[in-house]
Amino acid sequence: MSAADEAPVVIVGAGHGGGTLVGTLRQLGYEGPVVLIGSEPDAPYHRPPLSKKFHADELEDPLRPLEFYEEQGITLRLSEDVVAIDPEARTVRLGDDTELAYSTLVLATGAEPRRLPVPGGDLDGVVVLRTLADARVLKDAVHPDKRLVIVGAGYVGLEVAAVARSVGQQVTVLEREDRVLARVASPELSEILTGHHVAQGTEVLTSADVTGFAGDDDGHVRAVVLGDGREIPCDLALVGVGAIPRDELASAAGLTCDGGIVVDAATRTSDPHVLAIGDVTRRPVGNVEELVRMESIPSAMEQAKQAAHVIVGKDVPAADVPWFWSDQFDLKLKMAGLLRPGHAAVVRGDPTTGRFTVFHLDGDVIAAVESANAPKEFMAGKKYIRTRQRVDVTRLADEAVGLKDVVA
Ligand SMILES: Cc1cc2nc3c(=O)[nH]c(=O)nc-3n(C[C@H](O)[C@H](O)[C@H](O)COP(=O)(O)OP(=O)(O)OC[C@H]3O[C@@H](n4cnc5c(N)ncnc54)[C@H](O)[C@@H]3O)c2cc1C
Repeated sequence: MSAADEAPVVIVGAGHGGGTLVGTLRQLGYEGPVVLIGSEPDAPYHRPPLSKKFHADELEDPLRPLEFYEEQGITLRLSEDVVAIDPEARTVRLGDDTELAYSTLVLATGAEPRRLPVPGGDLDGVVVLRTLADARVLKDAVHPDKRLVIVGAGYVGLEVAAVARSVGQQVTVLEREDRVLARVASPELSEILTGHHVAQGTEVLTSADVTGFAGDDDGHVRAVVLGDGREIPCDLALVGVGAIPRDELASAAGLTCDGGIVVDAATRTSDPHVLAIGDVTRRPVGNVEELVRMESIPSAMEQAKQAAHVIVGKDVPAADVPWFWSDQFDLKLKMAGLLRPGHAAVVRGDPTTGRFTVFHLDGDVIAAVESANAPKEFMAGKKYIRTRQRVDVTRLADEAVGLKDVVA
């Protein structure tokens, strides 16, 4: 056994994936040294509350109590950056220029908010949301007297819009595409959610091309500028236009990357001693041919478990159907499967009641499901996606027909 084989498992990124992995490693009986390194000052925490509860005291929600790491003999190195990987020597270099050897390296570096390369993008009050520190800024800015403009109608943006409206703040959402959630939801769900937000008093402007931010004399944002010259006044502008995988370490080390670190169904990268998990990866999903970059807690947790199994040499558990959730006003949204062009949409339930499901069919097989306040439909849909169950489309649309009786 070489010195490198006795070195610790080193995990870069103390987020949801990294935090889950260390616990799973111990659960599976791994007794060797484990080092978890993260740039943020906080131990791994839940990010979903950052956009759903940033106005509340429950904002900080650690994945595990701090004692856990000590009790489990996990070395937690916070506020530290890994700046390079040497795959030949099997070492990582930290920001203070020290080196650390690894037996297995796991990259769990997540993604970072995409910035808008437009004039005024660096003014005070133009913010993004990824970390606890970002959420604290939002929390301070939520006030009925202040105007919030959200650039980008993705899930994070719409969740923030819902919270801000619920405390009486004036909110405008600007979306470059012709519908909200254009990249991640079906046109049917986009339309229903737009109606919901507008009914709650949010201004939603689609096909709105942001070309800059205008500031006041103190260097604070006062308006978002659109391509047609309009200025939308604001006290705070949240830019939520997607996230970029933090694959720069991997790519500099020569690992195969393609808009994310390319991994197989067991989190293996192109280097036999390096695994990668979470938002930073591009990976196989279901029976879709191309590799997919998922940005979700279930995906990060699934890959953390896969990586732990690889490290202890056990069979990697089979992948689940990909799924995701979002909370907006009183809508508990749950989505599963992958949307693809050519699917036919079937709506079950009445969207105006706030309880409905949109099933997406590939022929007579359910390929994806989007539900609001409909946990039974979501669970059945997810199961039918997994089993590739054929269904009777007419019966599926009829709420009077039980979900067991929709199978063809
Ligand atoms: C506001 C918000 C709301 C969300 N809501 C939902 C939701 O409702 N449902 C859902 O399923 N998903 C949600 N997500 C997505 C979910 O949080 C992510 O998919 C998940 O956190 C991914 O985990 P990860 O470990 O890959 O990355 P992260 O949790 O982002 O962790 C990566 C960590 O790596 C650190 N890092 C990066 N590079 C280095 C380096 N070189 N050295 C040291 N450390 C480094 C980063 O600082 C970061 O702390 C939300 C995300 C956000 C931002």
